[in-house]
Amino acid sequence: MDNIIQGISTFRGQIFPGQRQMYQRLVRDGQSPKALIIACADSRVSPEHITQAGPGELFVCRNAGNIVPPFSQQNGGVSSAIEYAVVALGVRDVVVCGHSDCGAMKGLMTPEALGKMPNVAAWLRHAAAAERIVCEAYPADMDPKERHRALALENVMVQLSNLRTHPSVAGALAKGELSLHGWFFEIETGELLAYDGEAGRFVSLEHEAELPVAEVSASPRMAAPEYAARIAAA
Ligand SMILES: [Zn+2]
Repeated sequence: MDNIIQGISTFRGQIFPGQRQMYQRLVRDGQSPKALIIACADSRVSPEHITQAGPGELFVCRNAGNIVPPFSQQNGGVSSAIEYAVVALGVRDVVVCGHSDCGAMKGLMTPEALGKMPNVAAWLRHAAAAERIVCEAYPADMDPKERHRALALENVMVQLSNLRTHPSVAGALAKGELSLHGWFFEIETGELLAYDGEAGRFVSLEHEAELPVAEVSASPRMAAPEYAARIAAA
């Protein structure tokens, strides 16, 4: 803890004085973060560090396995963070960010290792679809490392699907006011991959001029044809 206490002292004594006005402005004007990022609680995966974002720029929700429980009547921290970010703060982008060497994904692959962690085991059930996808659709003779990576990538996609079950997200998507992003951080190389909805796969951000989007809803979309036509004509 000594390092942490030293860090607090450095922040208060050396960093904060230079940023006092920014912090005061953020209190005066309130926060208006650019995006909601749902990332793993893993200590090596810091969304603010990876994106070099400062205070006020990102609304961050972190948990074991970057999981988004599907919407239910039961209240939960992730659901509340999503609702607040979309409804109260009006974020236009939601990111689910997975990563390499994820302990939660290892737990999903080896449930027997979770014997003493019943809460983690129950929590990871929200990622069971990713595990089933890798079991059934990927080659059976995959190297365990490759399987682990595929699972972490598929988990990002499953959590994006879960995200769409939240009424606040579904409503904002229908209004054309929200884009969903799937990211994957490679700890070893520092590389960030993003799911490209058009290409149907993850691509490296290094070669992209624009940020790939998993699902964009730049215009309203409605399933009821008479209303869809009215919106299109407007
Ligand atoms: Zn993780």
